[in-house]
Amino acid sequence: MQLTDRVALVTGAGSGIGQASALLLAREGAAIAALDRDEADLAEAVARIEAEGGRAIALGADVSRAEEVERSVGRVDQEFGRLDIVVANAGVNGVWAPIEDLDPGEWSQTLAINLTGTFFTLKYAVPMLKRGGGSAIIMASVNGTRIFSNAGATAYSCSKAGQVALAKMAALELSPHRVRVNVICPGAIESKIHEGTQRRRIEEIAIPAEYPEGEMPLTGGKMGHPDQVARLVLFLASDASDPITGTEIWIDGAESLLRG
Ligand code: NAD
Repeated sequence: MQLTDRVALVTGAGSGIGQASALLLAREGAAIAALDRDEADLAEAVARIEAEGGRAIALGADVSRAEEVERSVGRVDQEFGRLDIVVANAGVNGVWAPIEDLDPGEWSQTLAINLTGTFFTLKYAVPMLKRGGGSAIIMASVNGTRIFSNAGATAYSCSKAGQVALAKMAALELSPHRVRVNVICPGAIESKIHEGTQRRRIEEIAIPAEYPEGEMPLTGGKMGHPDQVARLVLFLASDASDPITGTEIWIDGAESLLRG
């Protein structure tokens, strides 16, 4: 096992990519601090890890609330006394709408969860990561990094672009402490996130474009699976990826090369 005796904090661990990552890191021996605002999904994720013989604690918290993230990291310290891996993954698609139609509150909500939530996760985890070195992995997206053609996804794309800058600033700042920070940019992955997307008047701003059949060329258009992203999380979390830091890795079957 690659992660024996390590402790990993995974945000958005209740579902999709976060849950798959938490399960895989646990299978490799890491104890998991699973954080999510959806307590039912969180309980299910922790139960799945425990059913496989892994160790996990549930941290019910909203990443956009500083005090809840701070308290959660405090619990990790009490419970495990160390933190080696952080997967800042919690996120929402939010509202996709024309710029003039996007309410200030809708913009702020997406940025608060996806970008500020990532900042809070890093901010409160860093003192623990610095103790013994570690790896932080930030879940961004093809949107905002290579793809700018999903009409209306402005707030989402800006939040994801911001995560990349945050990761690079942190990677350099934390490098003397042997803390690595990398970014995963997934293409379309099957998960609940798509159900939560609120689209308004997109048809009014979408610019017509024709792509070859299948928007993910490597897979013939089939979406990726959270387990595939989890394997990349494991690589970046483990010593196998040493000394990779401050970089994005796209995992999208060439979707973002076809469609900018
Ligand atoms: P998902 O909806 O299945 O899981 C996201 C989890 O985050 C959920 O359990 C949700 O409850 C949690 N969450 C949301 N807001 C939260 C908050 N404020 N505080 C705490 N927890 C919160 O989605 P997913 O597809 O697994 O997405 C995970 C990450 O991957 C997101 O950052 C998303 O932007 C990114 N991503 C997903 C795709 C995709 O196609 N699925 C593509 C690119 C990037």
